[in-house]
Amino acid sequence: MSHLSRSHKNQHEVIRLSSPVEILKGIGSRRAAALAKLGVSTLEDLLFLLPRRYDDRRFINTLSNLVPGKINNVVAKIDKILIKSGRTEATLKDNTGTAKAVWFSDKFFVHEGMTIALSGPVENKYFVNEFVNPEFQIIKSLDSVRIIGKIIPVYPANSEIKQTVIRGIIRSVLENYSEKCVKEFLPQEILKRFGMMSNHEALLTLHNPKDNMTYIRARNRLAFEELFLLQTGILMRRQKFSGNDNARPSRILTPGKSFQEFMNNLPFKLTDSQRLAIDEILGDLARDKPMNRLLQGDVGSGKTLVAFAALLTAGDSGTQAALMAPTEILAWQHYEKLRKSLESLGLKAGFLSGSLSTREKRGVLWGISTGEIDILIGTHSIFSDGVNFRNLSLVIIDEQHRFGVLQRGGLISKGSSPHVLAMTATPIPRTLLLSLYGDLDSSTLRELPAGRKAIQTIILPQENLHVLRDMIRERVLVKHEQIYWVCPLIDENEESALISVSQAHERLRELFPEINIAMLHGKMTPEMKSRVMQDFAENKISLLISTVIIEVGVDVPNATMIVIQDAGNFGLAQLHQLRGRVGRGKAHSVCVLLEGTNITPEGKERLQAMQKTSDGFELAEYDLRQRGSGEICGTRQHGINEFRVADLIRDEKILLLARDEARALIRRDRNLESEPLLKREILRRLAGGLELAITS
Ligand code: ADP
Ligand code: MG
Repeated sequence: MSHLSRSHKNQHEVIRLSSPVEILKGIGSRRAAALAKLGVSTLEDLLFLLPRRYDDRRFINTLSNLVPGKINNVVAKIDKILIKSGRTEATLKDNTGTAKAVWFSDKFFVHEGMTIALSGPVENKYFVNEFVNPEFQIIKSLDSVRIIGKIIPVYPANSEIKQTVIRGIIRSVLENYSEKCVKEFLPQEILKRFGMMSNHEALLTLHNPKDNMTYIRARNRLAFEELFLLQTGILMRRQKFSGNDNARPSRILTPGKSFQEFMNNLPFKLTDSQRLAIDEILGDLARDKPMNRLLQGDVGSGKTLVAFAALLTAGDSGTQAALMAPTEILAWQHYEKLRKSLESLGLKAGFLSGSLSTREKRGVLWGISTGEIDILIGTHSIFSDGVNFRNLSLVIIDEQHRFGVLQRGGLISKGSSPHVLAMTATPIPRTLLLSLYGDLDSSTLRELPAGRKAIQTIILPQENLHVLRDMIRERVLVKHEQIYWVCPLIDENEESALISVSQAHERLRELFPEINIAMLHGKMTPEMKSRVMQDFAENKISLLISTVIIEVGVDVPNATMIVIQDAGNFGLAQLHQLRGRVGRGKAHSVCVLLEGTNITPEGKERLQAMQKTSDGFELAEYDLRQRGSGEICGTRQHGINEFRVADLIRDEKILLLARDEARALIRRDRNLESEPLLKREILRRLAGGLELAITS
């Protein structure tokens, strides 16, 4: 029987994994829409719509041995059937005895004399065992029994598409297309050495496992496949950008006069991990191989200072360095803070962002190309076309997680091969780090500078806002401290966020006429933004209502309170970042999380997690569990799919194995010439995300 729908039947289409589900028989626009809600639009999506759980129906019972209170599976004959308005009652019979079955619907197509397989809960009613609303299948011969005698997949379903329908669709794809469409691409040698099943077999098994052991083998095969593809892709990207033989070796950088002078005049003592991180970085800079290091450290742990030490080292060596920040505000703040120190040490700083006037920009570009500017600070525009460094030796990326994994590639290809230091305050769990970056080195700032006080975190229902009144008055009017007030937003240009900012502005101005209040949001011009930030830094503004624009890096130690409106709408990493805006000075700080009216259970959980811990690593692990890995690193929008099978928390061993195998393979055959199918699969799945558009 053909499984192509009538409308497509004559077109002799080539069926591919990427074909839309509509080409399947029985899928019209309604079912396609229902499937789309489950994230399914292609045959591949269907094949990877993996069971949520399984029902073990391997054991087949007889009618004389039914176990009330449990799910029972039997094959029986229908002896009698009675259908009356919305209720069907059947008397069942097999060689051993009798029982009943009831359904709360009309089963007009079930007749006396038919043999059926049933699976469902059994109740004992007046000494008669009765199946209640069992799943059933009319069977012609015993070998056609599908619904019992094995482990049955339970798929994610919704009110628009029933479990049995999904099962049927997936079965037909597995039977008719998967062998044709799912081609093996892992190296044969690896399959053999580990005794792995083929990907086709693994998919069949995941949908219909024979037993637990085979299930685990199938699952591990697919988890390995995902991690191996990603690891291999990452290594290929690295080859492309930095690993080829004719890339100029980067400069060897050694600290000199300005570094020493700066270190000797620090107003405070370095933390132990700052000292260690600086040592590790200086060690890297002194090698003739480009540094590729991640500096992780919780908000407020003092990453800027470590970065500064590296910048000075580049300057001391007579080369240029660049510091890139994800937002204009943050870049400008870095520039403002570092410029004076740099200049007093005899180094010239430059600032570049997309919003400079053409004239200003021309001046900066000139300074960069002549080498007059030693240290360039700016947004990602410092790596746009037309920016030509004279002798760039070091690139530092602040708040790297905001850029996603990927822009790094673009950067690295820019200079010959500069040293790269990426900094992040979103602690990336080890497994995720490995899976995204392969063998990146990392330094971690484990402790906060001495003297920091814990930030108190309060969860408050929106309607109890008034309890904050006295707290706000006291902080501002008595202690002359400052407050951030954050309104949610998804996209910087979104109208609704703007509205909520100005609404909050209006309300708070009514409530606190005696307090100096200002707004900050993405629709303001860069000059207005930096003027407001400047005024806030100088305590001319006491309460700053803002979008998440202030999320990263902004450092005003006198701000001791942050109120986050509709906090349930924010992700954990973001909440943690926002909370990190306070607690930067000596005074006691507080973070108020306003629940918002439509808070989801997950939202509530996030707020509770925030209250429970201030450890960024713990929160990141929690986040990984709750959301999956793609969102955390911003990889999803870059086209790297969520893992379909692999689980970074459970699969650390498989990940390490995948990494080792990927390394060995790339060492042997860096362009995967011996594995064209593997290469094609990597490009197919990851090309967009990894910027791997390798000319092959
Ligand atoms: P982050 O790691 O979040 O980027 P910053 O680099 O902005 O943190 O540092 C936060 C604050 O801590 C800054 O005001 C900085 O001057 C200060 N700081 C950095 N290192 C130390 C230290 N060792 N002792 C005291 N304060 C420090
Ligand atoms: Mg910072």
